[in-house]
Amino acid sequence: MKILAVGKNYLDHIKEMNSDRPEEPVIFSKPDTALLMNNSVFYLPDFSNNVQFEAELILRICKEGKNIEEKFAHKYFDGIGFGIDFTARDLQQKAKEKGNPWTLAKGFNGSAPVSEFLPLSTFPDIHNISFSLQVNGVIRQNGNSKMMLFDFGKIISYISKFITLKKGDIIFTGTPEGVDKVSMGDKLAGFIEQNKILEIEVR
Ligand code: MG
Repeated sequence: MKILAVGKNYLDHIKEMNSDRPEEPVIFSKPDTALLMNNSVFYLPDFSNNVQFEAELILRICKEGKNIEEKFAHKYFDGIGFGIDFTARDLQQKAKEKGNPWTLAKGFNGSAPVSEFLPLSTFPDIHNISFSLQVNGVIRQNGNSKMMLFDFGKIISYISKFITLKKGDIIFTGTPEGVDKVSMGDKLAGFIEQNKILEIEVR
């Protein structure tokens, strides 16, 4: 399986990063070794002093497809979950300055905790799904799929022009504002609507 991710998909986050609004989705990937499942502990890596959380809705791809038309994109994913796109911001900043890829800053071991996936039938409207991240019991990020610059259909259609999507692939769909550094001992909790769906301890 592979993990694909969208950067710069929420205006408020683009502003907090002093970044520019993209004309097309910004896509990057994480290796499968980034996956962290079953609420496993996240261990802070020793190569970064600024690992930040990015709370995101994630999609589970359910069948192979390429050049998928936007209007058919809903047939290619069957579950929505909650993920954290952990980012070694210091490494990413250095890479950005040099024009180098983000691979190590975004793709290190354990950098992609994911929840279980809720079936699409759980959601009355996938264009209006709220989600939030609490750190040590305090809400730090709040998002809603209606705030995305590029919606699920556009993301799937766009990626599949370049990369064939396969059953089991996961797509991170971008983070709203509020990203910040995690510290040893932090307890992160991810919510979709009012339901706690992910719990991660940082060590
Ligand atoms: Mg992200």
